[in-house]
Amino acid sequence: MDTPLEKSPAGPRPAALLGPVEIRQLADELDITPTKKLGQNFVHDPNTVRRIVTAAAVADDDDVVEVGPGLGSLTLALLDTVRSVTAVEIDPRLAGRLPRTVADRAPDHADRLTLILQDALTVTPTDFRAAGAPAPTALVANLPYNVSVPVLLHLLAGFPSITRVLVMVQAEVADRLAAAPGSKIYGVPSVKAAFYGTVRRAGSIGVNVFWPAPKVDSGLVRIDRFPAGSEPWPVTVETRAAVFPLVDAAFAQRRKTLRAALSGHFGCGAAAEQALRSADIDPGLRGEKLGVADFVRLAGVGR
Ligand code: SAM
Repeated sequence: MDTPLEKSPAGPRPAALLGPVEIRQLADELDITPTKKLGQNFVHDPNTVRRIVTAAAVADDDDVVEVGPGLGSLTLALLDTVRSVTAVEIDPRLAGRLPRTVADRAPDHADRLTLILQDALTVTPTDFRAAGAPAPTALVANLPYNVSVPVLLHLLAGFPSITRVLVMVQAEVADRLAAAPGSKIYGVPSVKAAFYGTVRRAGSIGVNVFWPAPKVDSGLVRIDRFPAGSEPWPVTVETRAAVFPLVDAAFAQRRKTLRAALSGHFGCGAAAEQALRSADIDPGLRGEKLGVADFVRLAGVGR
C-alpha cells in the first residue's frame, strides 16, 4: 500500500486517494472496528471526496479546518487543492496514523497538514495558534453524525475567520439545516445556521460510498457567511447571546403560540405579547413562522 508515487517533472504529484481496498487495509493495520459512538463511517470512494472539494469551492488561498479526518479520505483530496488543512480528530488511533498516510500518499503536500488531537466541540483559535495552524477560512468535513449540528455551530461561533462551510451530514439533518420558515422541519438548527449566512443543500450522497455503510443517506450543506461589512444584523457574540435563547425558547414548545412559548423568557405572557407587538410580530404565531431577522428584531439587537 505504501508504494512510492511516480515522480513527475511537471509539478507536484496529486495525492493518491483512498479506495475500498486501502480503507480496509488501513483499518486492519490499526485493528479498528469503526464505532457508532464516534460516527465512524469512512468514505472509500475517490469521486465522492473530489465532489465534496468541488462543492466547497475552496482554492489555493484557503486554510481549511477538517473535523474528523478519520483514515484521511477527504484530507488527501483537500491537500491537493488548498493552502493548508488543519485536521481535528478525537480518536488517537486515527490521528496517530494520519501523518504517515499523508506522507505516503501526498508527499508533495505533506507540509500543508496540521493535526490537532482533540474533541472538535472544545477546539478554539487558541488551540490552532498553539499548533502553529493558520486561522481557518473554510470548514470542509464529513461530520460525525451524532454531534454534527453542535460541532458546526461551535465552529461558526468560535472561528469568525471561517467564511465558507461545506459539510456532509445525515440527509435529514441537511434538510433541517437548510429549511425555510414555515416548513415542518424548520427549527433551532435552521435559525442558528442562518444567523451566520446563507444556507443551502449542495447535493445528496448514497450509503454505498461509506465503510461501513450507514443506514441513511447523507446530504451536503453549504453555508456562505455574510460578507464582512454587509451582514443584515451584527454577527457578534453579543447579538448571538441575545438571539439564541429566544430561538431555543420559541421552539422548546413548538405547538404553543409565541406569546405562550416566550412568556417564561420575558417574565409573563403580557410582557411577551408586548415585546412581540413592538417587533411587529403577531403573538398568535408559532415560532416556526419566524425567520432569523424576526428573532433579531424581537431581541432588540438589529441594526
Ligand atoms: N473524514 C473521514 C471520511 O470522510 O472518511 C471520516 C469521517 S467519519 C464520518 C467522522 C470522523 O470524526 C471519525 O474519524 C471520528 O473518529 C471523528 N470524530 C468523532 N467525534 C469527533 C469529535 N467530537 N471531534 C473530532 N473528531 C471526531
